Amino acid sequence: MEFERPGIIRPPSEHASYFLPLTSGCSNNTCTFCGYYGSKLRMREVDDIKKEIDAMVLYVQHGIHLPTVPDIVYAVLQSWEQRRVFLQDGDALVYPFPKLKEVIEYLNEKFPCLERIGIYATPQDVLRKSLDELRTLRELKLGIAYMGVESGDDEVLQKVGKGVNHAQLVEAGRKAKQAGIILSVTVILGLGGVEGSGRHALEAAKVLTEIDPEYAGALTLTLVPGTPLYEQWEQGNFSLITPLDSLKELKMIVENADFTDCFFSSMHASNYYSVRGKLPQDKSRMLRELEAILAKGDPALLRPEFLRGL
Ligand code: SF4
Repeated sequence: MEFERPGIIRPPSEHASYFLPLTSGCSNNTCTFCGYYGSKLRMREVDDIKKEIDAMVLYVQHGIHLPTVPDIVYAVLQSWEQRRVFLQDGDALVYPFPKLKEVIEYLNEKFPCLERIGIYATPQDVLRKSLDELRTLRELKLGIAYMGVESGDDEVLQKVGKGVNHAQLVEAGRKAKQAGIILSVTVILGLGGVEGSGRHALEAAKVLTEIDPEYAGALTLTLVPGTPLYEQWEQGNFSLITPLDSLKELKMIVENADFTDCFFSSMHASNYYSVRGKLPQDKSRMLRELEAILAKGDPALLRPEFLRGL
């Protein structure tokens, strides 16, 4: 079956990257809150990927458009600075190691000035790859992996179908770091619902501390129609925390997580309030900011619902 190019879903920090699809869908399509739930994982043929890289070269070096290449390729290339590439899709690290190595080697050969290649990875993908394989990918400029941690609470992880527990999250995170790959992880405020809120936040702080990533971000749960969690909510089996309670979770995480040197942010569009800083240095300032908002208790100070995004 012909590979169908996925839409562009990427971390905000990859805005200047070229988006090169290796897969579509996600290999762990069981997370009940995620738009990739139930998606079918498809792998793109290496030759097809190489053809796209060749088309990139033709355009960048000679301004040549090929009629067979999708318009989106040229739309992205127009402003591409040839420094970064982001490998799509939901967890491109699932791509088999020999093929992944071949693709990245080809990219490096054609664009020797590349500085960094980024990728979404599930904890399972990281655990499946050997440390040597990850190190080889790192040497080939796979410089950053974005990994959804979501929670540190085993009960929440199990309920939402993450497919790994707290200990495995930590093992995966540390393994990527050990390979020299920068790690950017995210947790989801509100994922424990009302009942599990406090424990979810504390365990999220704990898992972040144990992984000790270079980047950590908080997102806020946004229910996606068609997902099992949305249905649970509709049926009254899952209760959403309030926007102000999401700030309480955020404060608990900032307060309780201990990092060596981490850029922490809640700048993502899903959040009701944005705070960011280097931890541990900026902890007091960030906590003061959150406390001030919580003390006022005024929902008008938060991002309005219609401006929130996934
Ligand atoms: S592993 Fe990530 S992308 Fe895949 S279904 Fe779960 S949350 Fe979504």
